[in-house]
Amino acid sequence: MLKETRSQESQMTVQNGGLHSHVNIPKIKFTKLFINGEFVDAVSGKTFETIDPRTGEAVASIAQGDKEDVDKAVKAAREAFDNGPWPRLPGSERRRIMLRFADLMEQNAEEIAALETIDAGKLYFWTKKLEIPSAAETIRYFAGAADKIHGSTLKMSREMQGYTLREPIGVVGLIIPWNFPTQMFVTKVGPALAAGCTMIVKPAEQTPLSALYYAHLAKEAGIPDGVLNVVTGYGHSAGAAITSHMDIDKVSFTGSTEVGRLVMQAAATSNLKPVSLELGGKSPFIVFDDVDVDKMAELALLGTVYNKGEICVAGSRVFIQEGIYDKFLAKLVEKAKAWVVGDPFDPNVSQGPQVDKKQFEKILSYIELGKKEGATLLTGGKPIGTKGYYVEPTIFADVADDMTIAKEEIFGPVMSVMKFKTMEEVIKRANCTKYGLAAGIMTNDLNIANTVSRSLQAGIIWINCYFVFDKDMPFGGYKMSGFGRDLGMESLNQYLQVKSIAMPIYQSPWL
Ligand code: ADP
Repeated sequence: MLKETRSQESQMTVQNGGLHSHVNIPKIKFTKLFINGEFVDAVSGKTFETIDPRTGEAVASIAQGDKEDVDKAVKAAREAFDNGPWPRLPGSERRRIMLRFADLMEQNAEEIAALETIDAGKLYFWTKKLEIPSAAETIRYFAGAADKIHGSTLKMSREMQGYTLREPIGVVGLIIPWNFPTQMFVTKVGPALAAGCTMIVKPAEQTPLSALYYAHLAKEAGIPDGVLNVVTGYGHSAGAAITSHMDIDKVSFTGSTEVGRLVMQAAATSNLKPVSLELGGKSPFIVFDDVDVDKMAELALLGTVYNKGEICVAGSRVFIQEGIYDKFLAKLVEKAKAWVVGDPFDPNVSQGPQVDKKQFEKILSYIELGKKEGATLLTGGKPIGTKGYYVEPTIFADVADDMTIAKEEIFGPVMSVMKFKTMEEVIKRANCTKYGLAAGIMTNDLNIANTVSRSLQAGIIWINCYFVFDKDMPFGGYKMSGFGRDLGMESLNQYLQVKSIAMPIYQSPWL
């Protein structure tokens, strides 16, 4: 799909001198915390600035929530859970309200897409046409589940019978990252709402705008006050206050492996709340000799540079079988050079700016490290322009498995290419990582596809495709990429707990 937006004579330059003029950038309406159905200032009165990565300039001052604000939000969510209507509504009523919420998301896609573009540097047209409608579909998927939450009937012994109930787990903390603010929001909020939970959402400090907009739409859709609260602020303060809160019953977190560890520690030392963690990755993209080189080189590039490489499932360790290695590499370089980087409002652009200065500098420092450790830089490697946080699509060849760029998550448009001989060898090398989030296998040989997919330690495997997500397909990690699953019916269970109930079949004389 990205191909469609690519300009024919394109080059790796910042288009239009950096800023596109044809899209009306909306006024930012929501900048305060959303607690108990109202937009309110932080208790401290503090704010922080959210930056437009196209320019590095501030676009809005956002309320800086902290522990006191999280306490207020939890109080509202607790009251809404213990005494409010949401968990007690028939599932069909929750469904009806959630469907309205999804419709409102779609109706406002244009405005929200613009917010995502100035906040996260996301491609405007892609976000408007694909991401937001797909996010609305995710809400609809979970809306459809709201009246199909079942327990089971247990036969037990001759005298007793039992059944299980699935009940909402309570007040949940949903901590989301900056790379997919909309998708992450619906992935967690959707099942939590369907289950009948109440919640505190903490968007990343880099990208608070869409979550606040969704809070406003949730109210308009009829989600009762206190059910969905949004506390914007920093991870070490607002985020940490959520993970260590004694009155939050579960935390679902998506972010880095380091912070995932802190989330688990905080849960362990507070009220032992269950956590689900979707963390980092360093996914292998494996290409066997028998593929269509041109087509798969296109996919391999996309596997690394989609969303500027700011995606936890990026297939940035590209293993190419020796028979096509040189040909494949040449195609990769050709395609990377034609990849258009520039203002994400421009429909001819395929890659916008990195989310912020910190991420931009981190990526450039990994590129320097790649060079220093002896990998061969084939293309890219430099920032683009003098304004904003643009980085060239970058390809390193001759990457050894133990180089830093082959081991650590870069979260940028940087590919590490490696050569392999046999299937057995590549399985071993692909699994030789602390992560286990995703993997791609490109081959037309069914036996290879089946053997490799069963041998790889990763939560999602794509055969002859990449980045295929579906609301019905569970997503999550093996190893240090985390545990628990987002999306799919399995994710609903993370917001439910099972109660077992037993009773005699007849009144026994001994009871
Ligand atoms: P990244 O490294 O991709 O920026 P992080 O893991 O730092 O991702 O951030 C993901 C989310 O976790 C953000 O919403 C961030 O504010 C939050 N966060 C960061 N530190 C903490 C923490 N100590 N406790 C809870 N949440 C945190």
